Amino acid sequence: MNKNSSDIMALAPKTSNKRETVCIFGTGDFGRALGHKLIQSGYPVVFGSRSTRPSSLIPKDAEVLSHAEAAQKAAIIIIAIQREHYNFLTSLEEVLRGKVLVDISNNLKINQYPESNAKYLAQLVPSARVVKAFNTVSAWALQSGTLDASRQVFVCGDDMEAKQMVMDIVRALGLTPVDQGSLLAAQEIENYPLQLFPMWKFPIFLSLGLTTFFFFYCLIRDVIYPYVYENTDYSFFLAISIPNRICPILALILLALVYLPGVLAAIIQLYRGTKYSRFPDWLDKWMLCRKQLGLVALAFAFLHVFYTLVIPIRYYVRWRTENTIISQALNNKTNPFNNTNGWLSDSYVALGILGFFLFVLLGITSLPSVSNNVNWREFRFVQSKLGYVTLILCTAHTLVYGGNRFLSPSSYRWYLPDAYILSLIVPCIVLVVKFVLIFPCLDKQLTRIRQGWERNPQYSE
Ligand code: NAP
Repeated sequence: MNKNSSDIMALAPKTSNKRETVCIFGTGDFGRALGHKLIQSGYPVVFGSRSTRPSSLIPKDAEVLSHAEAAQKAAIIIIAIQREHYNFLTSLEEVLRGKVLVDISNNLKINQYPESNAKYLAQLVPSARVVKAFNTVSAWALQSGTLDASRQVFVCGDDMEAKQMVMDIVRALGLTPVDQGSLLAAQEIENYPLQLFPMWKFPIFLSLGLTTFFFFYCLIRDVIYPYVYENTDYSFFLAISIPNRICPILALILLALVYLPGVLAAIIQLYRGTKYSRFPDWLDKWMLCRKQLGLVALAFAFLHVFYTLVIPIRYYVRWRTENTIISQALNNKTNPFNNTNGWLSDSYVALGILGFFLFVLLGITSLPSVSNNVNWREFRFVQSKLGYVTLILCTAHTLVYGGNRFLSPSSYRWYLPDAYILSLIVPCIVLVVKFVLIFPCLDKQLTRIRQGWERNPQYSE
């Protein structure tokens, strides 16, 4: 053996293959699934159950004993029982003294009980060391091995050694322990599996609200107005034309709303002259869901691309093109080539393609598997600098779409401007304010404030 290999051997920890026995109370769905996984990872498993009769459902390498007998065989006991049945544990107080009790329970409602289940367990068996873990992993995922999406196991507890022992088991199962601190964090961890897309609520409700508004806006302008004034039925616009107006509008507004809170935060910091002062709650919440806002915006951008791709095969478009050609032939007249229109049309498409490309890039870098592989500076560069370039390109795409009919009085219907004009308001505000903020006099002051300098210490909390 050469020197290098002996060095490597020396660096390897001297661990024995023998693992400590783990006890599981409860032979229900979760108990069995976890027991199976533990046995696969080399842990001897003993179940504590109300019934010690053999069952084909229980992993065959595991022992099934009474609760008291099983508890005596292990230092760690996983309580795979619903909280409502914890009462019997008080009678086992003596045998559970000093043992590590792992509370894996979940509730049916957020904050169902005044105290967390783990705290309740600690109160029932005060001589034991309680650790909260595994509640965010499902029995099904453990059994089927589909843990890719949820490898994180949140662990908390007051006893460091006990927490470490549980985290070692988590690692041995191929999962990633995430230390959440003391048992006080248990309530929050118990609420995790009950939350319904908490970060997605605002973006989804906002998109629904904006979609409804723009749908009726376009309906009035593009379907009802021509029906009333020209007696023309454009109701078929509801299938493609109107959705293809709404999607780019929503994509642009939502993208701008990703960058608006950052701009507002900068204004607040400049005004207060310190960064040590809390932002209003609504701004904090808005900042936390920027990624979700961006992803919803990207979904609308994708829809816009798909709707645009089908334009050439639409009957209405083909009918209009054919009619124009026929009427030109009948009148023996051709439209002269308009160079300005050529430029406008090509720039509009080019800006759209580039904007969409960068938009997709932003979406990809926001995926955890990608963002975990770039450092903070790279992430900031992509999300902030490239993000603003995307916003500029998409805003320019919309401005050029308006082209020479932009703000033309003839484009108003019932005093309502074209819907795309409304979509430009928020992006233009964000870009103009950002442009002002990067002026050296403001930018320097903002950078100093963000480095901890305080102009108005009375604002700091
Ligand atoms: P389960 O299938 O209903 O099993 C619970 C087990 O508790 C029973 O099989 C029984 O085991 C024992 N038990 C029932 N009544 C009892 C009583 N009066 N006294 C003592 N023991 C009693 O439930 P589960 O799905 O395995 O869930 C167990 C715990 O894991 C729950 O707290 C749940 O919130 C948590 N959890 C479950 C999942 C999941 O995907 N299922 C995911 C995360 C967390 P014996 O017959 O062997 O005594």
